[in-house]
Amino acid sequence: MDTGKSGTILIIEDEKKISDIVELYLKREGFVTRTAGTGEEAMRRFNEPFDLIILDLMLPDISGEELCSAIRETSDAPIIMLTAKSGEEDRIRGLGLGADDYVVKPFSPRELVARVKAQLRRTKKGTRRVLSFNQGFLTMDTDNHEVKKKGVPAVLTPTEFRILMILADKPGRVFSRLQLINMVQGYDFEGYDRTVDAHIKNLRQKIEDDQRNPLFIKTVYGVGYKFTGILDED
Ligand code: CA
Repeated sequence: MDTGKSGTILIIEDEKKISDIVELYLKREGFVTRTAGTGEEAMRRFNEPFDLIILDLMLPDISGEELCSAIRETSDAPIIMLTAKSGEEDRIRGLGLGADDYVVKPFSPRELVARVKAQLRRTKKGTRRVLSFNQGFLTMDTDNHEVKKKGVPAVLTPTEFRILMILADKPGRVFSRLQLINMVQGYDFEGYDRTVDAHIKNLRQKIEDDQRNPLFIKTVYGVGYKFTGILDED
């Protein structure tokens, strides 16, 4: 059992009973925990480094959605949202805002701890130099910017490579076109929708077999794009 260095987790939840039990289960697994009972309190903590953030969508002062966006301005730590809303639209909206996973209340603390561990494993893998997906169908060398499709180098522009890395670093997370262009270019500009769409189209031509039925970059209608490749185990 790994203890001590599992990571530091911020729990943003106004219901003390829930916050306490989540803390208890995480501490038992060796995590260091910090808690915030209001959005405002959470805001004051965002300059501290966290490995993961658990965020209740329904807070008394600031909405979970707003907080999620605020966290994403400064931190790339995985966010797991807690919510009583189970609708698929809310789920997609939550993930579109930058949450990595979603747990619907009432939840089992054991289940939440499992999701926390899964997110942290994923984050660690994201820093590995060579990433391989779908049994080697697609590989990415993050250091020398080399992408291969079935072992054959695919020549990507720097922007295409950046977009692919952003998406592949968080499989399953939906990124809006605006988020992607902000992360790639660092500023807004006119016509970003079509610009992103054009880059995605080119990327698909280079890495997919069937562009109308993509394995790796899927369109989430009305929201944006997500990466759906399956990371190979070592
Ligand atoms: Ca609440």
